[in-house]
Amino acid sequence: ALTQLLRLGSEILHLRRQVHADLVDRKSTEARLLVETFHDALTSLPNTAMLRERLQRAAACAARPDAYAYAVLFIDLDGFKNINDSLGHVEGDHLLVGVAERLRNCVRPQDLVARLGGDKFAILLDPVAAPSDASHTAERIQRALALPFYVGEQELCASVSIGIAHSTPAPADPYDLVRNADTAMFHAKRRKHGFYEVFDASMRTRAVARLGLENSLRRAIGRQELRLEYQPVVRISDRQLVGFEALVRWHSGERGLISPSDFIPLAEETGLILPIGRWVLREACAQTQRWHQLHPRSEPLFISVNVSVRQFSQGDIVEQVAAVLAETGLAPTQLKLEVTESLLIDNVQSTAVLLRRLEAMQIRLCMDDFGTGYSSLSTLYQLPIHTLKIDRSFVTGLGADNQHAKVVETIILLAHNLQMSVIAEGIETELEWQSLAALGCDFGQGYLIARPLVPAAAEAMLR
Ligand code: C2E
Ligand code: MG
Ligand code: MG
Repeated sequence: ALTQLLRLGSEILHLRRQVHADLVDRKSTEARLLVETFHDALTSLPNTAMLRERLQRAAACAARPDAYAYAVLFIDLDGFKNINDSLGHVEGDHLLVGVAERLRNCVRPQDLVARLGGDKFAILLDPVAAPSDASHTAERIQRALALPFYVGEQELCASVSIGIAHSTPAPADPYDLVRNADTAMFHAKRRKHGFYEVFDASMRTRAVARLGLENSLRRAIGRQELRLEYQPVVRISDRQLVGFEALVRWHSGERGLISPSDFIPLAEETGLILPIGRWVLREACAQTQRWHQLHPRSEPLFISVNVSVRQFSQGDIVEQVAAVLAETGLAPTQLKLEVTESLLIDNVQSTAVLLRRLEAMQIRLCMDDFGTGYSSLSTLYQLPIHTLKIDRSFVTGLGADNQHAKVVETIILLAHNLQMSVIAEGIETELEWQSLAALGCDFGQGYLIARPLVPAAAEAMLR
């Protein structure tokens, strides 16, 4: 009986050891799972799931009578795609880890810094004593990130756009606070890089309206709601017609006529500018070639097409132009592409190569809205620009305003010295016209000569 008891005892001991080992094993698996479920692998910051949990808890606490306030910061790196594209993903990852570390150092231990994925982070400030606390944290973050990062051999500077959402009024769903902060971040980003904005309810209304507009615009091409108008461009010296600028119009079935100033920026943000730009280019070239055949002239008219920088950075603009010219039969020397100065300046490196390829195809390039974008002489040298188009703001009031006359005179001198021609846009009065003529401007367009015309009216002018 004793030996039996002893054997039983040792068996129990053995069994208990086994159970314990199993338990430890299971516990560490559970712990690992817990870490994996609630943390981001790259930065080891808490992830969205963890943020959700904490938000839920904060919302529950805030609902009690001794309500307190908390806030969410939504943080997005500016131009991260550029860094990834130019330095590679490994370097990009290093930068994200560095940013994560600095973010963590900018907040208190009780706050939560989470990575939502990509270059997006969120911070739960819990609690905040006054709304200005969140703004101060945002400023602290922007200062902390302004110091350079050393990634491999590279010295990198990061800037972030930040949106702030406060817990009052209480959101319907705790996670709405993150969405609101995201909306505010979007507004911050639109202003300029490295800003922060505080969410207010009107932002949501505007975001919804924008989404509606975006959906209509998405369908506009298929529904053939886009049209082109053509504004005559004439020689200043003898008012001879030399070409047209194609300007897109959206006749929305749901919303009526919408100006390009209202939908082109949206199209650029959403990428819809790519299909729209393709349509504009083909339509403008086809129309010009039809006119060319119907009304041949000794000096063929050019067509100027506005091209957004996004079409350069993301599209296949060179191939597109080649295809459209082949398809329509338009001579390359008859096509001018207009790119806005301010956009061109921000993307000199990436666009220069494409512009040179277009130049090699004998396409002419025009810098639109010149004078608004602060291009340096060296950029003008670097880019194969044929024409400068003086922005309307310098043309308005010419003859009465001597300050503007000096600017315009300088632009014309500069252009001519660099073998470029000059177009003035937005000429509305005879006085402006005479002043431009006196200053030696080559070409002009504006309401004084003609408004943008529907194709039939433009054709009447050709006849
Ligand atoms: P932009 O290329 O600088 O075009 C000139 C704008 O000035 C046009 O406005 C034109 O209608 C207007 N304008 C012309 N003459 C006068 C004048 O004498 N007085 C005044 N006050 N305005 C005049 P619009 O058609 O509303 O176009 C606005 C902007 O939208 C354009 O500025 C261009 O940046 C963009 N845009 C228009 N069509 C296209 C397009 O097909 N593609 C792209 N990417 N952008 C386009
Ligand atoms: Mg233009
Ligand atoms: Mg312009």
